[in-house]
Amino acid sequence: MTSSQPKPTTTDAGIPVASDEHSLTIGPDGPILLHDHYLIEQMAQFNRERIPERQPHAKGGGAFGTFVVTGDVSAYTTAAVFQPGAQTETMARFSTVAGERGSPDTWRDPRGFATRFYTSEGNLDMVGNNVPIFFMRDPLKFQHFIRSQKRKQATNLRDNDMQWDFWTLSPESAHMLSWLMGDRGIPKSWRHMNGYSSHTYSWINAEGKVFWVKYHFKTDQGIECLTQSEADRLAGEDGDYHQRDLYDSIERGEFPSWTLHVQIMAFADARTYRFNPFDLTKVWPHGDYPLVEVGRFTLNRNVTDYHTEIEQAAFEPNNTVAGTGLSPDKMLLARGFSYSDAHRARLGVNYRQIPVNQPSVPVHSYSKDGVGRTFNATDPVYAPNSYGGPKADPALTAEALWAADGTMVRSAYTLHAEDDDWGQAGTMVREVLDDAARERLVANVAGHLTGGVSEPVLQRAFEYWRNIDKNIGDRIADAVRNGG
Ligand code: NDP
Repeated sequence: MTSSQPKPTTTDAGIPVASDEHSLTIGPDGPILLHDHYLIEQMAQFNRERIPERQPHAKGGGAFGTFVVTGDVSAYTTAAVFQPGAQTETMARFSTVAGERGSPDTWRDPRGFATRFYTSEGNLDMVGNNVPIFFMRDPLKFQHFIRSQKRKQATNLRDNDMQWDFWTLSPESAHMLSWLMGDRGIPKSWRHMNGYSSHTYSWINAEGKVFWVKYHFKTDQGIECLTQSEADRLAGEDGDYHQRDLYDSIERGEFPSWTLHVQIMAFADARTYRFNPFDLTKVWPHGDYPLVEVGRFTLNRNVTDYHTEIEQAAFEPNNTVAGTGLSPDKMLLARGFSYSDAHRARLGVNYRQIPVNQPSVPVHSYSKDGVGRTFNATDPVYAPNSYGGPKADPALTAEALWAADGTMVRSAYTLHAEDDDWGQAGTMVREVLDDAARERLVANVAGHLTGGVSEPVLQRAFEYWRNIDKNIGDRIADAVRNGG
């Protein structure tokens, strides 16, 4: 057989099949035979091709790449992936939040910005967004928030009234909404947006000193956004606009890259800083904690099988390597549970054995059995044991630990001087946006509010925006009531 000849079709068991076109029948017009095993395999496999989509972040795409350290943060973390000159294989997945798998890429929505580093110390995942903050600070509200953004039970339609009802009853969403309704709420492409860890994480250095860090992936392509009308047009013309842009640019050899920076806070500052540094609705102003360069994250290889490499990619904030760790951010700690739980529900308990989720280092865990298991487990299957099984080595882990003390409460953050809901949103609207950007913000909000929002919710929405900035709130009310 020459190499130009196609390979013979086989069943999934490797048995050559008799035909790609004709099922086995009794005579050309006769009934199909049940023992045509290949026909049955084809039909059965097809019926099971779709797996549950992610809930949320269902629509997305990604690629593989490389991370190269260009700065020197060795004073703050022992993580091998961040040591000067280190080079690590990576992948990234970008996504919208509310839409289903077939929804348009250009809907106004935050974008997921999930990255994985296949480090020499195991997988490090950063499951961030293209925005440094979030709609809430307590995980008890997350499920409710996502339901308010998805489809209404009766109509099966997304519903602006439902969205504004939730937002205006949740003032901690003000900072995020000021961002989402502005220009960056619809990026031109995934290449033209930043990524942020959003959460505060921890680092630990060789002396055992702990630091709080926020990660910022700043696009080297420059920030570019779509206007609402451009996005609306593209949603009809090419719903997969962002997916296509990423794939085509990598095929052309134009590899998108991001420069990774961190903000670093001394451990003790967390108690006395003017904002609660673990509040996911707040940034750390750059003037207080400047960006420190770490390295360059480049995407340079397209996937060849979207299903196995992207649909089954299972990022999880729990994947922190030695020298890195979580923080007391309530949302982050809850995500530590909910991401791995979501993967178990979608992909099965052995999802870490899917090749895209396997680390580049050997696995010596005590997990065994379960649906879809492919690695052999070996005896002994328990620890401690006296038969040479794996043994935990604390010297290989550098865990950031913190003290916690207090009475059990159910409460928002209240201990820091500026633990409010409106302050940073007001700063964004007044000091970061220019006149033209404020004009577009007013138009975007007014346009959204004129899409079927009921009178009581509308009243609350005007008050909400007046709390962020009196002038902007008045202009939004005027635009809705009088057309601007
Ligand atoms: P700075 O003046 O140092 O920085 C403002 C930042 O705002 C910029 O660096 C840029 O972030 C971001 N930005 C610029 N234009 C827009 C826009 N149209 N929509 C959203 N973000 C934009 O300010 P501070 O650090 O003192 O923060 C002031 C306000 O800026 C904050 O209240 C927050 O709303 C916003 N911001 C702050 C960030 C931070 O981590 N400190 C990050 C992003 C926004 P970038 O450089 O990341 O592109």
